Amino acid sequence: MVRQVAWEQYDEQELKQVFAFAEAYKKFLDHGKTERECAAQASAEAEALGFVSLDQIAREGRKLHAGDRVYTNWMGKSFMAFIVGEKPLEAGMNILGAHIDSPRLDVKQNPLYEEEGIAYFDTHYYGGIKKYQWVTLPLALHGVIVRRDGSKVTVAIGEDPEDPVFYISDLLVHLSQEQLAKKASAVVEGEQLNLIVGTQPLKDTEKDAVKAGVLKLLKDKYDLEEEDLLSAELEIVPAGQARDLGFDRALIAGYGHDDRVCAYPSWRALADYQGTPAYTLCAILTDKEEIGSVGATGMNSHYFENVVAELYAAVNETYSELGVRRTLRASRMLSSDVSAGFDPNFASVFEKKNAAVLGRGVCFNKFTGRGGKSGSNDANAEYMAEIRRIMDGANVDFQTAELGKVDVGGGGTIAYMCAKYGMNVIDAGIAVLSMHAPWEIVSKADLWEAYKCYCAFLKEAREI
Ligand code: MN
Ligand code: MN
Repeated sequence: MVRQVAWEQYDEQELKQVFAFAEAYKKFLDHGKTERECAAQASAEAEALGFVSLDQIAREGRKLHAGDRVYTNWMGKSFMAFIVGEKPLEAGMNILGAHIDSPRLDVKQNPLYEEEGIAYFDTHYYGGIKKYQWVTLPLALHGVIVRRDGSKVTVAIGEDPEDPVFYISDLLVHLSQEQLAKKASAVVEGEQLNLIVGTQPLKDTEKDAVKAGVLKLLKDKYDLEEEDLLSAELEIVPAGQARDLGFDRALIAGYGHDDRVCAYPSWRALADYQGTPAYTLCAILTDKEEIGSVGATGMNSHYFENVVAELYAAVNETYSELGVRRTLRASRMLSSDVSAGFDPNFASVFEKKNAAVLGRGVCFNKFTGRGGKSGSNDANAEYMAEIRRIMDGANVDFQTAELGKVDVGGGGTIAYMCAKYGMNVIDAGIAVLSMHAPWEIVSKADLWEAYKCYCAFLKEAREI
């Protein structure tokens, strides 16, 4: 079975839509380089579209009715939105889920030091990265610093062309004989990922004058003390905007496609939904997937269940724990995360018949995991058939894939955490080249097919 190339089915009008959607996505990427920035964008847009805060509904004890739109932003890092359906919640929800955290370098809690006239921020990488890819490129600093009194400074430095950028040095090739003989995992080590943040000494300072200069800037510009860095979340990401790639502009090179390329169209599909759905619709943009979905904002926490319980209480006259369980159990979900795109430069790790190919549409992974499917959610054949019905009915180009050859490696997603409620979940997503590199590659056609897929799923998925 060879799947169709999505580009071949587009007429002039749909081609325009493909490229227009990609423009909107690139804007989302450029303004969403951290989970906080993505959650903030979705929340602001939700407000503008008339979604009401579910926390506010709960506080005021208000009831929700079919057609009502609500959202919640958990700790500024995880976003969820719902459109209440005509049917009771116990009929299950149509759920789209994706993650908005991406691999990066985090600034350590005690980061600032000076050596031989260079001031550095010490970093700790987040998620699976090839460390050698993060040196010698312009880097930006995004995040928050919270003072002892709770007041907060939000920064994004390195994106405006007028901004300075930051940088991690690599050894010059002339002296790299020893370094180049090392294993790639050791060519640049974690503790060498030190970010250059300044080199101009503060005049008339005896000790650590460069560090003092940086601290003076932080004080003058942001009213911050060195100790305030103890309560900061600062993320180092590639500086610059997402760009079209290739003569034909069919691809996008961008930071954080994993997994904003699924998160954006998931949220977009819900936001664009017209009218009142039969089943309640839900979009989840979650945090911490790249480090195992841990923490209060990750999918492993109970926050999703808690939000569904709040929704249940607002939709029904009386709250029922059993009702919440039935709601979750009866739900259907597309757990979306990027797929490893077949890369002809590295063909040996892929099994071609079961690899995701750029431009062949949205990708379904019946299972993920490693070795003998370890750690995987393995979707039911019955559910897979339902997915085929929905996709073919909406003329969505899709393909099926697994991560790579059996026994070569593996990975996981948020699917199994939602599957624990007993709901039908399948991994869906978009093929990416150079996954987890500072700049990743996706196809505009796949992005568009994913959006069409999500719209169709919200509309057509039903109890099976
Ligand atoms: Mn991912
Ligand atoms: Mn990832």
